[in-house]
Formats: sequence, C-alpha cells, structure tokens
Amino acid sequence: MSKDCFVFIEDNSDIKDISLQLLSEAQRIKQQHLSHIDNIVALYLTSEDTDISTLYTHGADRVILVKNDLLSPYHTVIYAEVIEQVVKKYNPSIFLIGGSITGRDLAPRVSAKLQTGLTADTTHLTIEDETGLFLMTRPAFGGNINATIVCNEKTPQMATVRNNVFEKQEFNLPILDPIIFEPIITVKSEIKIIKETPKPKQDTNITSAKIIVSGGRGVSDCFESLSGIAKYLDGEVGASRAIVDQHIASKEIQVGQTGTTVRPVIYFACGISGAIQHTAGMDKSELIIALNTDSNAPIFDIADVGLVVDAKKVLPLLQKRLEIVNASAL
Ligand SMILES: Cc1cc2nc3c(=O)[nH]c(=O)nc-3n(C[C@H](O)[C@H](O)[C@H](O)COP(=O)(O)OP(=O)(O)OC[C@H]3O[C@@H](n4cnc5c(N)ncnc54)[C@H](O)[C@@H]3O)c2cc1C
Repeated sequence: MSKDCFVFIEDNSDIKDISLQLLSEAQRIKQQHLSHIDNIVALYLTSEDTDISTLYTHGADRVILVKNDLLSPYHTVIYAEVIEQVVKKYNPSIFLIGGSITGRDLAPRVSAKLQTGLTADTTHLTIEDETGLFLMTRPAFGGNINATIVCNEKTPQMATVRNNVFEKQEFNLPILDPIIFEPIITVKSEIKIIKETPKPKQDTNITSAKIIVSGGRGVSDCFESLSGIAKYLDGEVGASRAIVDQHIASKEIQVGQTGTTVRPVIYFACGISGAIQHTAGMDKSELIIALNTDSNAPIFDIADVGLVVDAKKVLPLLQKRLEIVNASAL
C-alpha cells in the first residue's frame, strides 16, 4: 500500500468545484501530517483533452489521467470498473470523492468493488498521528452528534465529502506531466442517449452567493420580504427547514444538514433559532448577523453580530433604508 491520497475529479463539461475543494483540503492535511501522506493524486477520468493545470494549482502533487471515449457521458458501471483498476494498481491509502449526485452514486459501487468501507457525507477529515488512521467525521443521529469513523482494516479509507465544507486554496506546486492510465473497459453501457434536455437554469444559487438573507419560522409570515432585502444587497434568500416544511420556500434554498452547505461573506439569520442541523450548513460563513426575539436562542452562540429584535419590525425598515441608499446611488 502506498501513502498516497487519491481525489476523484468530477467533470461535467468543466472540473467541479467540489473536486478542487477536496484537493485543497487533502493538501492541507498532508502538510500537517507529512509522515502519513506522500502524494495528493488527482484521479481524472475524461473523454476530452482538458487543461489540468488547475488540479496542480489547487493541491494535486500528481495527476492520473484516464482518457477514453467511453468515459463520456458519465456511466456508473464503467467509471467504477476503471477506478477499481487504477486503485488496484496504485494502492492509495485514502480515497476521497465529492458528495455530489455523481459522487454519491459512484462511491458506494467503488467501495464495494474494492471491499473497503465508505464514510458518506463527511464534514471533517484528519489523520490520527499516533496510528496514521484517517479520521472521518460526519453528523449522526439526526445531526445531534458528530461521529468520527475509522476504517482500520481495509484500504483505501474512503469518504465522500459535502460540498462547500472545505475551501478551495491555491498552492504553488510544480505542474508535472500526468501519469497516463490505459483502462480495459469490459462492461458495456446499456444506456442510449436519445435526447438531452438541459436542466432548467435555477433562479437562485445559494451555494455561490456572497450574501445570504435567510429566514426561519420566526419570520414565516413575512418571508417574502427577505427577497427585497437580498435584491438590494445583491444576495440570495435562504431558509431553515421549518420554512421549507411549511411550503413557504423551496428545498433548493434550505440551508443545513439536509439542505445546502453555504459559506457566504455575510449570512443574515432572521428568526432562526440556530438548531445544530441548521448551523451545520452555515457556521463557516465569514460574518453571521442574527436577528431573534429570544436572547437565549442558540444562533447567538455562533453569531458575530447578534440583535435581540423583532425581525418582523426591523426587516421592513431595513428594506426601506436600502431602497433609499440604492435610489441615491443612481
Ligand atoms: C435529521 C434532521 C435534519 C435536519 N436538517 C435541517 C436542515 O438541513 N436545515 C434546517 O434548517 N433544519 C434542519 N432540521 C430541523 C432543525 O432541527 C430545526 O427544527 C429547524 O432548523 C428549526 O427552524 P427555525 O429555526 O426556523 O424554527 P424554530 O426552531 O421554531 O425557531 C424560530 C426562531 O425564531 C425566533 N423568533 C420568533 N419570532 C421572531 C421574530 N418576530 N423576530 C425574530 N425572531 C423571532 C424564535 O425565538 C426562534 O428562535 C433537521 C432536523 C433533523 C432531525
């Protein structure tokens, strides 16, 4: 077994951010535990010639490139067969896959083929110095505890990782020629693409928003006012699950453990209590501004700015103020 950490690179017409986040985190872990990890290796399956320099910039020491026409479009069975061959040849000790739709589909099949364990949906990763074991942490029991899982008998130690939990970072690593791997593809795709219909473009994208104005049950009867404020701040609206469960907002904008993980520059939490399942998805925001009538609300434990106010009264005033500022700037 090598001491390499593999990162699966997901590509759907361009390299996905989640893969770059994983490369960066793997490189950071390596630099803290140099005796336990040798190389961060980006495993890139593609059918096209693509610029791979971004993989090095974001933390890869080496790139294994598998190029084959059968690798597009993505097909679980073909990808799992190819990855099994690569992993059996290079024997990495750790293998990370993004917790995207593709990653969640691919990782279990790969781990079953390799007869190793898989920790799904992790939010924290590190190495235990004494043993060299990979510690994979994820929320458990409805998010009420964080469970740290080890895979101490089998390798690679595999995990899928939630999007946006780790930050992309730029490194100054040498750009080397990729290692080319020629796969033997024996399985046939039984999928025939008859017609491609692009997914309708989402109106909102809280994942990349710099400012999120988020509302919870405390503002359920004036939730729509949040979009007026978000518009003036060039931000997006987010919601707690309480709001989504009441069908006031769509699941796409739910922040938290079973929603989306976000890390904006500013996160406004209006009428949100701060349950752990919510904060798990936003506690890495740079600045958290919480508005709540209850001074003991747990959201104040993580807020940078806490306002004990009635958000229903404050939000219309804030919107008015922003309207005036915006009008005078025109
Ligand atoms: C397995 C599991 C997964 C979950 N996943 C998620 C998830 O992804 N995201 C998520 O959000 N939740 C999730 N939850 C639910 C979570 O536990 C909480 O129930 C939920 O976050 C509560 O939403 P809330 O803060 O809007 O409502 P509440 O907890 O009811 O809080 C409302 C808050 O508004 C305040 N308030 C009331 N009136 C006003 C006012 N006028 N002005 C200002 N403040 C006011 C109150 O003081 C209170 O703090 C999950 C739960 C489980 C079990």
